[in-house]
Amino acid sequence: MQKIRVNRPIVEIDGDEMARVMWHMIKEYLISPYIDLPIEYYDLALINRDATNDEVTFAAAEAIKKIGVGIKCATITATAARQKEFNLKKIYKSPNGTIRNIIGGTVFREPIIIDNIPRIVSSWKKPICIGRHAFGDQYKSFDIEVAQGSELYLTIKNPDGGFQEKKIYSYDDSAGIALSMYNTDKSITAFARSCFNLALSKKWPLYLSTKNTILKIYDQKFVDIFAEIYAKEFALKFKQQQLFYEHRLIDDMVAYALKSTGGFVWACKNYDGDVQSDSLAQGFGSLGLMTSVLLSADGSIMEAEAAHGTVTRHYLEHQKGRKTSTNPTASIFAWSRGLLHRAKLEKNNELKDFADKLELAVIKTITAGVMTKDLALLAKQEDFLYTEDFIIAVAKNYQALS
Ligand code: NAP
Ligand code: MG
Repeated sequence: MQKIRVNRPIVEIDGDEMARVMWHMIKEYLISPYIDLPIEYYDLALINRDATNDEVTFAAAEAIKKIGVGIKCATITATAARQKEFNLKKIYKSPNGTIRNIIGGTVFREPIIIDNIPRIVSSWKKPICIGRHAFGDQYKSFDIEVAQGSELYLTIKNPDGGFQEKKIYSYDDSAGIALSMYNTDKSITAFARSCFNLALSKKWPLYLSTKNTILKIYDQKFVDIFAEIYAKEFALKFKQQQLFYEHRLIDDMVAYALKSTGGFVWACKNYDGDVQSDSLAQGFGSLGLMTSVLLSADGSIMEAEAAHGTVTRHYLEHQKGRKTSTNPTASIFAWSRGLLHRAKLEKNNELKDFADKLELAVIKTITAGVMTKDLALLAKQEDFLYTEDFIIAVAKNYQALS
């Protein structure tokens, strides 16, 4: 069989533990036999991050920025326990954090829906894709304990050196707590563009949720910026594709999401996105079916990965020489989603066709009852396959489709 030619490279980022073991199987059975793909490879295994003083992570992020497509395996986030386990020189920052800081953009999480895998929320027929604004708010706030009898003020130093001061509260009858948090027009604007671009590429409507009835300036700023960017840059394209953009109150939106059939992109503020993406992951079933992409504001740079981690518990089994039934689905979709972005950038229809068929092959395999243990448990089915056998079954279904 003639391999599909890809003209420009992708950045492949290797990782750790069971995710790494699956990664190599996916390449061997599902990628390398079918496409002639130029790859810039970066090994982000924790031992290599340590050997390079984490320079490999920065180099990988710069490469994604230059090339436009990154496909990433799950990596260990260093902790004190991991430092001891691997005798690390230091506790390195999370690679995902480093990459996101360099590329910017927004992380979108989206489940893979398969008919015969039951969902806690049974009305969900199509995915819900959540974009979390990962800047500012509670995550960069300053909080402090305040003694009884104190007064709380907010002070802003103006560009001309003058001050604005506002009294917030008197702690007359009790001690308490206080918090200050911020955001910027620049970051909200970039977030809005990422969300509009993702909704367009998925051909799904976009909702933004805020609490602008209470935070009449803070959250209203999100509403205003989204409305302005939409009107100026996206309304026409949305209408041409019969899509829409709408703002909803967070409480309305949570209730609507539960009742809906899915099939939309949901732009969340930082804290809401943290909470809602976990409730979504549960509602849809398994971590092995959750994908994640980082998309730059202008939509030109994408990094795709599985949302789960390195699956340490299964790796400990693997190290004892036992076969595991770890679900490679989200990792396979990291490849297909990254390749779809490459196909879009270089207008490569053959590659698009490959990525679409690969996803379809996975779905057909599972729909036929051939699946890993995590899904078999959900589907209340006794039979399941080990990871490698499952990947081989997907390869056979792919061949049957092409
Ligand atoms: P995890 O790797 O996501 O695994 C947690 C549990 O979820 C597993 O023990 C397993 O449950 C289930 N699971 C996750 N993925 C699965 C799959 N593909 N197939 C079947 N079951 C799956 O989270 P963790 O154990 O908390 O973290 C392990 C390491 O991953 C940590 O070092 C963490 O820093 C790292 N991590 C990396 C990323 C990333 O690179 N993006 C994200 C999250 C965590 P059972 O044991 O019940 O089978
Ligand atoms: Mg969370």
